[in-house]
Amino acid sequence: MTEPLSARPLAAPLRPSACPGLLRIVPALDGGICRIKLPGGMISAEQAQAVADAAERFAGGVIEATNRANLQIRGIGMDADSLIAMLLDAGLGPSNPASDDVRNLMLSPMAGVDPQQVLDVRPLGARILQSLENHPRLHELSPKFALSLDGGEGLAMLEHSHDLWMSALVIGGQTLIGFGLAGCPASHSPLAAVTLDTAHEMVIAVLELFLDQARPDQVRMRDLLKDIGASRFIELLAARLPHPLDTDPLITGWQRRPAQTNAHIGVQPQLQSGLTSVGGVVPLGRLTPSMLRSTAKLSVELSDGTLAMTPWQSVMLRNVPAHQSGSALDCLRAAGLLCGADEPLSKLIACTGSAACAKGLADTKADALKLAALLQSNGVSQAIHLSGCTRSCAAAHVAPVTLLAVSDGRYDLYFRHAERPGFGQLRERDLTIEAVGALLIADSRSSTDD
Ligand code: SF4
Repeated sequence: MTEPLSARPLAAPLRPSACPGLLRIVPALDGGICRIKLPGGMISAEQAQAVADAAERFAGGVIEATNRANLQIRGIGMDADSLIAMLLDAGLGPSNPASDDVRNLMLSPMAGVDPQQVLDVRPLGARILQSLENHPRLHELSPKFALSLDGGEGLAMLEHSHDLWMSALVIGGQTLIGFGLAGCPASHSPLAAVTLDTAHEMVIAVLELFLDQARPDQVRMRDLLKDIGASRFIELLAARLPHPLDTDPLITGWQRRPAQTNAHIGVQPQLQSGLTSVGGVVPLGRLTPSMLRSTAKLSVELSDGTLAMTPWQSVMLRNVPAHQSGSALDCLRAAGLLCGADEPLSKLIACTGSAACAKGLADTKADALKLAALLQSNGVSQAIHLSGCTRSCAAAHVAPVTLLAVSDGRYDLYFRHAERPGFGQLRERDLTIEAVGALLIADSRSSTDD
């Protein structure tokens, strides 16, 4: 039975924040933005239909796949309450309205089905999410405070920095949860590890300790660690926990195996024999209602009726019978998704840009399309990020190539460099898209000639 409107958490007091949420519509040049946080990136076909309907009825029809595996609706008009009510009716809201902002836990889109995983992290992930939703103290965390839980999957976003990151690791035949603060498994080793049984308790203790120690202006873990340092934090944490933290050198020296490149595109085998996961990239992170509807319909016809959104702004269908994976891929392509890693647009990301963001110095999405066409006609495909300003909304990691807008249609070009902070090594300033294209094409030819 549908809950009456008056009983829904529409009137929940929301703290002020610039971050959109499901209950907090944040204005932009093209209308309001509503962010729908998805548990582990998962959304049912029925819920996806509701998002498509809401975007069409109450907004401009633009649905974005975010780099945190969530969805957001842009261009929301005057009837935001009806849009919110429709999404809540579809079960897309938090179980506790005060917790909408803090439902920030990232899992692999193939958690539980990835052949390389050492642990199915979904049960632990579900417990952590439940605590984030129902433990009132944790609602004091910033909307930007985020956690990741990696089960050793081949398909995993390991480069996004998280306030608390966790990786399953096997030491001496025992599966443990290693964890680190203000970092990521791609470039850091764990500070300590706990047993699987005590991992949930550790997470809650880390979050409460952060809230106890941080000043109001310290909203991210990195802010607090600048003051007290990671070692002191771990000491304080150990004093709170009834079980010891394991800081054996095998743990603090452990390195995560690199993730597979581009495994979110195309067909991937699953742990479960005879089943596959099939994925395609959402062009520049934007879905139309009809793309979302077609993909949702496909998930019912060929998979388990669920869409897995990914941090690469793509969609995966899981549990597709292997003999149907080819048709699933064809159907995703027909729905408008990019299903080949050799298609340059599948590797380009661009923020909203000047078309709908007041801070944007260039129309990044239009320029990305131009660049993709140039690269496509020269057979070049590489991961590139176009950012309308230094805030880097489209990428939570440093891309191999970054174009930072300096004015309309012009960009500074950076290449990722391990020893250069920010976007990396500056290659050229103030280039047009044509000049960037020519330079990248020339680079790719010279590296092929080598
Ligand atoms: S990176 Fe800058 S221009 Fe792009 S969406 Fe974010 S704030 Fe706007």
